[in-house]
Amino acid sequence: MNNLNEYKLSMFNIVKEDKNRNLLITNTLSNVLIKILNTTNKTIELNKNFLSTFNHEYINLFIKTGVLIPNHINEHQIIDDIYFNEVIKNERLDIIILTTNRCNFSCAYCFQKRETYDLKLSQYDGIIKFIEQKIIDKGYKNIKIRWFGGEPLLGKKGMLYFLEKIKLLSQKYKVSYGCGIITNGYLLDLDTFKILFKNKVINYQITIDGLPDVSYRFLNNGKPSFDKIFENLINIRDNIKFNMFLITIRINFTREILNRIDEVIELFYKEFGHDKRFGFSFIPVFDWSYKDSDFMKAQQIKSQLITEEEVISVMKKYVDKLDFKAWTNLKFANNECWAGTPHGYTIDANGDILKCDFKLDDFKANNIGKIDLLGNVYLDYNRESKWIFESPLPECYSCSYFPLCLSTSCGAAKLDGIMKNKCASFKSMALDYLEIESYAKNNKFYEVKNG
Ligand code: SF4
Ligand code: SF4
Repeated sequence: MNNLNEYKLSMFNIVKEDKNRNLLITNTLSNVLIKILNTTNKTIELNKNFLSTFNHEYINLFIKTGVLIPNHINEHQIIDDIYFNEVIKNERLDIIILTTNRCNFSCAYCFQKRETYDLKLSQYDGIIKFIEQKIIDKGYKNIKIRWFGGEPLLGKKGMLYFLEKIKLLSQKYKVSYGCGIITNGYLLDLDTFKILFKNKVINYQITIDGLPDVSYRFLNNGKPSFDKIFENLINIRDNIKFNMFLITIRINFTREILNRIDEVIELFYKEFGHDKRFGFSFIPVFDWSYKDSDFMKAQQIKSQLITEEEVISVMKKYVDKLDFKAWTNLKFANNECWAGTPHGYTIDANGDILKCDFKLDDFKANNIGKIDLLGNVYLDYNRESKWIFESPLPECYSCSYFPLCLSTSCGAAKLDGIMKNKCASFKSMALDYLEIESYAKNNKFYEVKNG
């Protein structure tokens, strides 16, 4: 029998009340998910007094899962160990490649207008050289490539050229690799999917309008794009027998889509709700304009803007039908962006070596090198060093979310010294995902009741 006096609550517990006033707990270090069923009609709080009302079996569960830890453990010290092992010593190199910044779409809410470039084959040779040198210098064991653009599939020829070369590189150095792609899906016909999948492109994010008669994602000739993308998705679903890929169908939400949410859910549930290879991501359309000249276009979309809270409510309501992979988003060290570490780079379509793949314009510190048209690689180590942080921020040492964020949730904000807002939105996203996961069918919560 354990004496509760010898234990304290872990600093890595995060808690959220669900819609039935049950208490949802995750310990971000052990990744456990626990739901304490509320048998009263009062709010319950996670504290030792409350835990002392549980039977031994549950107390043991809280101890085994790290919700309760021995008094002598100093978790603040663990932060440095995690940072060293997961960030400094990370064995994976993360490269984002913009094949082109051309796009075959002119979406109503897109404000990207950049000089157009396509990566040349010689520059793909340069990227291979860059990766090879990194493997030699840092001993990476795994390479993660993410294809991005513009519309990356407009640069398919270069992608396939590169994928052939990375396969040879991985054999030479015995490193593994895998790829993802963010695409509008219009050019993702069955043959293209098959060849990409064969070349280890296994994660796909495809954005679609949401309903066939709603159009914000126009082709450059003004025609709607929904039907073709939907057809591509159905063809992949019906003709690819393998399970080892994930397609995340992203819908950018406007007021119009929100007002017709039941139709959206019905359509996608019917076609993809029973196929584990398809997940969903719902994001509100933001005013992504950033120049005075964008004003008129931004005004047109203004009445369609909705809040993040509205979209989160939709996800909570329909997560039993569509899989939002909420649990995956809560996993330890599952960061998407490695710009604020030595392990993450973006190669722009003109060959510039960048850190952040989001702030592509007017962000001088982002540019740290170049792969020229002859495939020569230039990296400015002084510029890069500004993006590399030897230790977490002081505030991270008392942050329950550290194992999820690793103090690397946004390198650009860290560089600019404006993490406060990023931290707040990261934490609120984690809490929302905890609650969304709890409503999912087949969720992984242990259910616990006191008394
Ligand atoms: S959320 Fe903020 S304070 Fe917490 S670990 Fe991340 S960067 Fe640090
Ligand atoms: S804005 Fe921040 S999180 Fe996004 S890609 Fe850039 S560095 Fe990463």
